[in-house]
Amino acid sequence: MANQSFHLDAVIVGGGIAGLLALDALHQRGCHAWLIERDSLGSGQTIQSQGIIHGGLKYALGGAANAAAKAVSEMPERWRSMFRGETTPNLSGVAMRSEACALWSTGSATSMIGLLGAKLAIRSGPAAWPTETLPEPLTHVRGRVLRVTEPVLEPESLLAVLAMLHADRIVRGETQSIRVKGATAMIDVQTSRGSMNITCGKLMLLAGRGNQQLRAMAGLPAGAMQERSLRMTLARGDLPVLNGHCVKGVKPWLTITTACDHTNGTVWQIGGEAAEWGATATSHDTINRAASAVAAALPNVSLKNIEWATYKAPRSERSSIDGGRPDTPGIVDDGPICAAWPTKLALAPILADKLAERAAPAHAPEPIPQAYERPPVATPPWREVTQWTNAHLDTLD
Ligand code: FAD
Repeated sequence: MANQSFHLDAVIVGGGIAGLLALDALHQRGCHAWLIERDSLGSGQTIQSQGIIHGGLKYALGGAANAAAKAVSEMPERWRSMFRGETTPNLSGVAMRSEACALWSTGSATSMIGLLGAKLAIRSGPAAWPTETLPEPLTHVRGRVLRVTEPVLEPESLLAVLAMLHADRIVRGETQSIRVKGATAMIDVQTSRGSMNITCGKLMLLAGRGNQQLRAMAGLPAGAMQERSLRMTLARGDLPVLNGHCVKGVKPWLTITTACDHTNGTVWQIGGEAAEWGATATSHDTINRAASAVAAALPNVSLKNIEWATYKAPRSERSSIDGGRPDTPGIVDDGPICAAWPTKLALAPILADKLAERAAPAHAPEPIPQAYERPPVATPPWREVTQWTNAHLDTLD
């Protein structure tokens, strides 16, 4: 196919959770909207995420529900209604890792203060986890285990469900140029089947870290976004299912979520403070430290024969004054172009609402012609990582 021209109400660049939910919201509003993904859907942060639908717990460990805790407090129930198929998009097909997160402490007095703080500050508050249903790895931890009704989803499955719902409106392509003429944006996209020249009323840049380059292409100033480095640890082998946070002081020290890898047993993604240390450490040092922390936090879990790896996971967000994590989704408007970052996967539905309000339905929705290539869903980090090690066991023995 040679060059083809199209006129739309809105074009989204970037198919992570922000782009996919915005596409759904625009579609529900009756807009003629398409999404352009250059690689695979969610190939930045969404596929790397732990899938926790935060309700404010980890921001309330100090005892007060701060701005971040308030921003996310409604999110678990909003997502649950999508999982039940009661509100759009219908996410009833999404695989869940858990309906709730566990919260336990390292047993020190300061950690108990953190747990108590969370109990006081969270509206849907953590309750004692009934002994008979306590996750097996937590049966020997010191102190009480709390149950927080923050669901944990499988990001790969979430991306696959949204990709299927909107297959007619998603195309794989690389943006070549972005221009603005009055109230209209123009974007040229190179696809494997020729180029698409699209004119639209609203161009939404939802490409995570890719927003930097896209804004520069549009001649917009730098400085709208920031990146925070993290290094996550992975552990795989014969590990029990566990989703939750071990608290030290008033911070989640370890956040562990469990995925099922059909070839290699269960996989733990280990984040929280552990991922912050890793940001400036080597993979080897990060594994050593994370493995020792897991051994201290979960004394009855055997780490023999467990393999370890790490992956770098930069967080892309709207710039904040002090470089810290913003509390809410960030949007930067420049005429018919806007760039946005959800800050958290859990907050992406709120961002989608705000973005849909920025577009007006003026063209009848039409599918992307069948001949154009559709992007695949991104591969989870534990299937991408090639270097696994069990060398840390020397230091644990
Ligand atoms: P991304 O997921 O990064 O998607 C951007 C997309 O744009 C990608 O598909 C990319 O290929 C595409 N793209 C880039 N450039 C271009 C271009 N030029 N043209 C076309 N497409 C382009 N949040 C939670 O709520 N709960 C959690 O448990 C959680 N855990 C996390 C754990 C880690 C390790 C990390 C890194 C983040 C976590 N988050 C969590 C945050 C959450 O993952 C992100 O806020 C969210 O996924 C960001 O989504 P996004 O769509 O903006 O960006």
